[in-house]
Amino acid sequence: MSKVLIIGAGGVSRVVVHKCAQRKDIFSEITLASRTRSKCDAIAAEITALCVKTAQIDADNVPELVALIRQEQPKLVINVALPYQDLTIMDACLETGVDYLDTANYEPIDTAHFEYSWQWAYQERFQAKGIMALLGSGFDPGMTNVYTALAAKESLDEIHELDIIDANAGSHGQPFATNFNPEINIREVTAACRHWENGAWVETAPLSTKRSFDFPAGIGPMNIYRLYHEEMESIVKHIPTIKKAQFWMTFSDNYLKHLEVLQNVGMTRIDEVEYNGQKIVPIQFLKALLPDPGSLGPLTKGKTCIGVIARGLKGGVRKQVYIYNICDHEACYAETNSQAISYTTGVPAVVGGIMMLTGKWHAPGVWNMEQFDPQPFLDEVGPMGLPYVVVEGEWPEL
Ligand code: NDP
Repeated sequence: MSKVLIIGAGGVSRVVVHKCAQRKDIFSEITLASRTRSKCDAIAAEITALCVKTAQIDADNVPELVALIRQEQPKLVINVALPYQDLTIMDACLETGVDYLDTANYEPIDTAHFEYSWQWAYQERFQAKGIMALLGSGFDPGMTNVYTALAAKESLDEIHELDIIDANAGSHGQPFATNFNPEINIREVTAACRHWENGAWVETAPLSTKRSFDFPAGIGPMNIYRLYHEEMESIVKHIPTIKKAQFWMTFSDNYLKHLEVLQNVGMTRIDEVEYNGQKIVPIQFLKALLPDPGSLGPLTKGKTCIGVIARGLKGGVRKQVYIYNICDHEACYAETNSQAISYTTGVPAVVGGIMMLTGKWHAPGVWNMEQFDPQPFLDEVGPMGLPYVVVEGEWPEL
């Protein structure tokens, strides 16, 4: 039984708090801290299984974080604030000797560029302190890394090509809205695309490569677009047989039309502009205008399908395997007051925490999900709400 400190009180946090509270056998006490305490209080008020303590914190401020961690004495800090806070929270964990988990890799606020180098640089300090950081324990990254590790362990002797495919086949009925933090989402989608091919990153224009993919579970064919996504960086490092890795995501024509106009008029800019004698960052202003992703929960219907197709050799013979999860927006909302994007991120964060706290995945240092045995994680994550399907077959090359 362990106390957990959860930082951030947005869409993903709501699911993390609900799910931790369902596992009182592991998470005996929960403290929820974020920039806006009223948001913590609103989430805490939804939980009846145990009393969730709340606090205000500026997670950009290391001394404040250290003081809160010393006061609360958690066994684990779950960071579901924004990627900008990853390093300050890791610094505070180092100073206090507490384990750390997040769902997205560090990104500096003034550059739309994310990579693991900043967090991997903590490796020796975390080892020396005898504490652990588990990076990217969401769905993608997260479950997709675990699915790839499963393909490498069970299905294939060598993975040669990997396609990670993320479909949101749900609809919220809004003209334009993002289903997680709009600033992070738009920065990710408008960044230059990179995929891995023959030992190097190949850069192409954002959203310039489009395919159609026939999704299972009655979803059917949807357009998918190639993007850069962070899990490819760690997966090709840790599974070096992979010659080609690509990440694909569905976008509706309507989303793309709005995004193009917003980009063309400068509303997605991340630098400061002068307006009426004030400095504003257009993408932050846009975030204030767009629907809060948390408010989409009761409106969103349909399914998500996120998974990986791994292709390679088994016993010298070419083989393909598709491992995926199907999640239903309305079922997620009925259980946790959140749509499936927050749910599919929050559940793996909690299961990552369970792995660490039970010692099934525990070692000093900084780790990505594919570096551990996938089975104990998969044994937990199904009953916790994200069952997976493994199918062998033939899929068109993407
Ligand atoms: P939200 O914007 O809904 O929530 C972020 C929360 O962090 C808000 O409560 C916000 O406070 C708080 N916060 C921001 N800055 C600070 C700060 N300086 N100090 C304290 N709290 C702060 O985001 P989501 O819940 O959608 O996403 C959470 C994380 O999950 C992000 O890192 C995102 O990238 C990641 N993610 C990962 C996915 C995956 O599959 N791996 C998929 C989707 C998201 P306030 O309320 O005051 O704004």
